[in-house]
Amino acid sequence: MTFASRNLAILGASGSIGRSTLDVVAASEGRFQIFGLTAHRQLEEIVQQTRCFVPQIIVGTDPDAAAAFDTSTLHKQTKLLKGAEGIQELVTDPQVDIVVAAIVGSAGLTGTWQAVDAGKTVALANKESLVMGGPLLMDLAADKGATILPIDSEHSAVFQALQAGRQSEVQRIILTASGGPFRNFSQDDLEKATVAQALNHPTWKMGPKITVDSATMMNKALEIIEARWLFDLPTDKIEVVIHPQSIVHSLVEFIDGSIVAQLSPPDMRLPIQYALSYPNRTQGSADRLDLRQSLQLDFHPPDLDRFPALSLGLEVAQAGGTAGAVLNAANESAVNYFLDGKLRFTEIVSACRDVLEKHTFDANPSLEALLKIDAWAREEITKWVST
Ligand code: MG
Repeated sequence: MTFASRNLAILGASGSIGRSTLDVVAASEGRFQIFGLTAHRQLEEIVQQTRCFVPQIIVGTDPDAAAAFDTSTLHKQTKLLKGAEGIQELVTDPQVDIVVAAIVGSAGLTGTWQAVDAGKTVALANKESLVMGGPLLMDLAADKGATILPIDSEHSAVFQALQAGRQSEVQRIILTASGGPFRNFSQDDLEKATVAQALNHPTWKMGPKITVDSATMMNKALEIIEARWLFDLPTDKIEVVIHPQSIVHSLVEFIDGSIVAQLSPPDMRLPIQYALSYPNRTQGSADRLDLRQSLQLDFHPPDLDRFPALSLGLEVAQAGGTAGAVLNAANESAVNYFLDGKLRFTEIVSACRDVLEKHTFDANPSLEALLKIDAWAREEITKWVST
């Protein structure tokens, strides 16, 4: 089967997902081309790494790093742009087929928004975009004819499994969670958990923020919210199961009782490649399961007492409105304080709950209102930490 080459814009090329995307492109035998990319601080490094691709546009999103960058190192065909205007110019370029939204955290919302507004196909790794503004973003996508394809491994698995039936035939989706490094920690151990322990994930190699989120299980809470909007499912149809091996990436149960799952080793190159190739499948470089070796798959229900983030995720997914933006911002800020040694591990989720309960809920916020309440929630966490 022939496969027309697809031009990519990678937002957040220097992060963990950005780098895996570069791997997928390098192994794609020309199926994907890098038209443009953005990097925040590691501009020089990413320019070196992408030299062989000759991107048309490189955007430095950190003004200081962009100003300090030596443009003489760029290929003469490559244009250097800066900041949010640079992202806007990149994602609206008619030559871009797919925008990979891989900027970490709420900083990724604006770029995702611009790409959806431009009617592009968006391969979405930045779950915060949907957590913060799910209903707004999905409405905008419908309006502009944009397609949002998940890169998050659980959502990619659900998306793949959903193709076995109709939306009306879905009984529930079941998101798998590795349980993180603290899966078997007692409540006492959790109270004393250190940064080094939290950053030691058993199955996935990821950036520090998402690794801490995996330890608190806030990552799964955010994924519940992401799934609620992405698949337009009520929260009573979304469940979580602990699966320590991270081989089954999620499951869909249909009304007849059939459960369809997607399995592969924990390797982000596969969900990235699937989103970029969709609706096709192609050869790729991701690790493969070897079923000639014996393989054990365990599943057990999550412990909501030790991991209260999960209940918080369900409540916020149910509430909608401004709740997602508040939880997301409060958590980002709290994780930073934890990484700086200013907050205990178990205080991350407690602080998030307090800020959520304190906020003035708006059921139909604008994008501006979401960005405003994001800033408010961060300030509230700073106050929480100082008292
Ligand atoms: Mg995930």
